[in-house]
Amino acid sequence: MTGAVIPPLSLSTTFKQVSPGEPMAGMDYSRSGNPSRKNFEEAIAALEGGKHGLAFASGSATTATIINMFKAGDHFISVNDVYGGTNRYFNRVAAPIGFHSTFVDMSDLKNVEAAFRPNTKMVWIETPTNPTLRLVDIKALAAIVKRHPGTILVVDNTFLSPYFQNPLSLGADIVVHSVTKYLNGHSDVVMGVAVTSNSELYEKLKFLQNGTPAIQPHTHPRPPITPSLSLSFSQAIGAVPSPFDCFLANRGLKTLHIRMEKHQENAFIVANFLESSPFCTEVIYPGLASHPQHELAKRQQSGFGGMISFRIKGDLSNAKRFFQHIKYFTLAESLGGIESLSEIP
Ligand SMILES: *Cc1c(COP(=O)(O)O)cnc(C)c1O
Repeated sequence: MTGAVIPPLSLSTTFKQVSPGEPMAGMDYSRSGNPSRKNFEEAIAALEGGKHGLAFASGSATTATIINMFKAGDHFISVNDVYGGTNRYFNRVAAPIGFHSTFVDMSDLKNVEAAFRPNTKMVWIETPTNPTLRLVDIKALAAIVKRHPGTILVVDNTFLSPYFQNPLSLGADIVVHSVTKYLNGHSDVVMGVAVTSNSELYEKLKFLQNGTPAIQPHTHPRPPITPSLSLSFSQAIGAVPSPFDCFLANRGLKTLHIRMEKHQENAFIVANFLESSPFCTEVIYPGLASHPQHELAKRQQSGFGGMISFRIKGDLSNAKRFFQHIKYFTLAESLGGIESLSEIP
């Protein structure tokens, strides 16, 4: 209406209805749907080549919401060096309420086959992993998961962004990101997102994101609320991001391709420098020929990203001394922003 070329930030928590239960423009309450969130969700879905995007208050809230699709007693398989926060969620939050998880070394996919149980409902991976940068062959793993009907494959694509890797095209059912990292890209938003082309999974996640029944009770009966099912569809979560965070993340997406190319260019310079240094005992970067899974990286990724791990000669005190003297890198957690960061994980 105004001709604005950038969609406005939409802060209203509620939207006018023309008659009871009939919203003017498809949205009724901002937890259930918000124009700024919708813009971001549609953009990220397009970037990942998926049909549906769902944004959450953090990467961790995305993980929690996905796990709430399942019921106590279900079993998950994950990669043994999955992101620390995800590991903590599986072991310290999901396990005490009855979800079982097995963590395996997925450099050999036979380990995944061996970990399947009759109640295995989800395989959750990250590739490359944070921070050891190990890879999982997504296509080969997806083929194994497809042989177990009722099990879904979730891929955390935070470390490469959709610019360098598209897990849905390799057979994943859901791709997730910590938007906090590359997608927003400016270290000023904490947020998460899930993308899927599977409408049934989307409906379940939408219901949980929402906090109001998007799933009509007469078409999708809820299971009875018993103690063992109390985490199934009997509750919704509502862990949504703010419109302002969605606005910023959407703005970040517009430069994703330019940032990722530059991150990668810089990463190669730093990785080569470290590899030639007598003070480094190991440099881990999937773009280096010395990376044990370099061939897989070339096959399933269209680039190698901006994250590097390395080991310094000596012990922890040497590593600490190094980080007290760095000049251009800020000693701080996180990744994917426009500044250079370093840390001891
Ligand atoms: C940071 C991170 C997360 C968690 O995301 P938050 O936005 O910090 O909650 C999940 N996975 C990976 C790989 C991450 O780096």
